[in-house]
Amino acid sequence: MSWESRNSPNHSGPRRRTLGVVIHSTRGGAPSQETEYMATLNWFASSGSQVSAHRVIGHDGDGAIVVDDALIAWHATDHNAEWLGVELTEPTINDPYSDEQYAALRGLLQEWSATYGFPLDREHLVAHSEINSQKTDPGPLFSWEKLLQTEAPEEATDMPSIVDSLNVIWEKLSQIQADSSASTTVKELAEDAKQKGVVEIKKAIGLQ
Ligand SMILES: [Zn+2]
Repeated sequence: MSWESRNSPNHSGPRRRTLGVVIHSTRGGAPSQETEYMATLNWFASSGSQVSAHRVIGHDGDGAIVVDDALIAWHATDHNAEWLGVELTEPTINDPYSDEQYAALRGLLQEWSATYGFPLDREHLVAHSEINSQKTDPGPLFSWEKLLQTEAPEEATDMPSIVDSLNVIWEKLSQIQADSSASTTVKELAEDAKQKGVVEIKKAIGLQ
């Protein structure tokens, strides 16, 4: 992705401290993602609009720097003084976000987190709708799990290799139990490990 510079006159600042990031979507109703992106930048570039955000991220994952990170952008009324703001293009509430938008947003948030020292969690990353009951952005199609990569991966873990490993461990423990020189305590520990380890792991990953 790349960032272009599209300065807005709608800012104040500098920001004295940064608590986190308000995530927005544009909802301009443009007929295409491309025109939505351009219209948003034009709107923010107009002093008459009195609104802005620090960044705008288009559907293709490229974005614009609209207000310098250190300054106060005008995106969330009483939160402006202490919160960064980023807009994702989303012409209507029914338009899905792209993987490229998530990736660009994630990269930006990581950069801001490192610069301003806030963690990337749901206390420091908020939806506009969460701080302003009049707003609905970024809306139901925005996935925090996807953004923060906390959703289960689509590809299951390498199950065959896990099963192989468990079977090897089971074999070793069985050998210990069969070893006539092993003490009763060691044999009990081996049985314990088989039950609490191998069996429980297999249950947990749905094999038993
Ligand atoms: Zn908003």
